[in-house]
Amino acid sequence: MDFEISHRDGFARRARLRLAHGVIETPAFMPVGTRGAVKGVTVDELHALGAEVLLANTYHLHLRPGDELIARAGGLHAFMGWDRPIVTDSGGYQVFSLAPRRTLTEAGAVFRSHLDGAEHTLTPESAAEIQARLGSDIAMSFDECASWPATREAADAAMTRTLRWARRGRDRFLQLADDPPAARPRPTPDQVQFGIIQGGTFQDLRDRSVAGTREVGFDGYAIGGLSVGEPVDLMYDVVAHTAAQLPDDRPRYLMGAGTPEDLVESVARGIDLFDCVLPTRNARNGQLFTRTGPLVIKNARYAEDPRPVDPDCGCPTCRRHSRAYLRHLFVAREMNAATLNTLHNLYFYLDTMRRIRKAIEFGTFAEFRRAFLQTFSRRPPSLSLDV
Ligand SMILES: [Zn+2]
Repeated sequence: MDFEISHRDGFARRARLRLAHGVIETPAFMPVGTRGAVKGVTVDELHALGAEVLLANTYHLHLRPGDELIARAGGLHAFMGWDRPIVTDSGGYQVFSLAPRRTLTEAGAVFRSHLDGAEHTLTPESAAEIQARLGSDIAMSFDECASWPATREAADAAMTRTLRWARRGRDRFLQLADDPPAARPRPTPDQVQFGIIQGGTFQDLRDRSVAGTREVGFDGYAIGGLSVGEPVDLMYDVVAHTAAQLPDDRPRYLMGAGTPEDLVESVARGIDLFDCVLPTRNARNGQLFTRTGPLVIKNARYAEDPRPVDPDCGCPTCRRHSRAYLRHLFVAREMNAATLNTLHNLYFYLDTMRRIRKAIEFGTFAEFRRAFLQTFSRRPPSLSLDV
């Protein structure tokens, strides 16, 4: 892995992250392909949109079709036909949010599959092994995410357990890297591993989490446990506080966030990588992002509107189709509604990141940010511009 920062503007960083399957220009947004597919769009369409990296889900792929099957197919890249970088989450978040009848012990999590009720165990060690078999470019350390709102005791317990798990997961990851190739089905020999900072919204817990995770030592660092329901300004405060303590020369990944505004505001606080289901999920629900704010395509006012979703958008959907047509597809429940809406929303997210990167390169990120807040979210420009 190579991470080279070329420009800075305030706390914002413009960098190039070189991984086993290619280069990611950061700050970057990673479309979510939970089960080895970004819902509604093909890998060719993702290529054409300019997506440089995807996020896939360890929990889901472990349960179905199984990481050993994927390893036999040559790893997740070969299996899904995507030749650019892939990040896999550790599965921790899904165990806590999805799996019925889970039991948490110091060893790990025992849970029932939400698919067939079969019992599974996920530990820091097995999460590293599963991700090695999947062959992602970036593997994530196994963590426990406290729910929101969490008491200080609960957030503290989840954070300290995450630290102990970080050590075990890191040790297993390094062992796997040292094993002779024959002993490990490892499609991506140059896989790297990121640690995850927890601690809820308590700044002193975040401090201890950063110190402990840095001590274990990872290739990059993620901020977890945010965008789980806390007020947005509290999230921005925790991001600023935490990112400032992470090593300057390693990539920083804010997990699970967020809105277009979250991307801009978190870049301003030093974040390099993002993932979120918002653009894809909202597309399927008919909410389309535009530079002047979200648009709900099913509204009757669009029934005969010949304009594209966003006249300034260069996506394949806006270049060819009217709001009236997209509304018709959505109301008639045509499959193409999901595809065309997803292409637009992902283009909007990826294009927002392109504009952010250009602004950092030109030293005009503060102006970009002010204009974005005024036109997109229409928040008072004074708000949170002090960072
Ligand atoms: Zn568009």
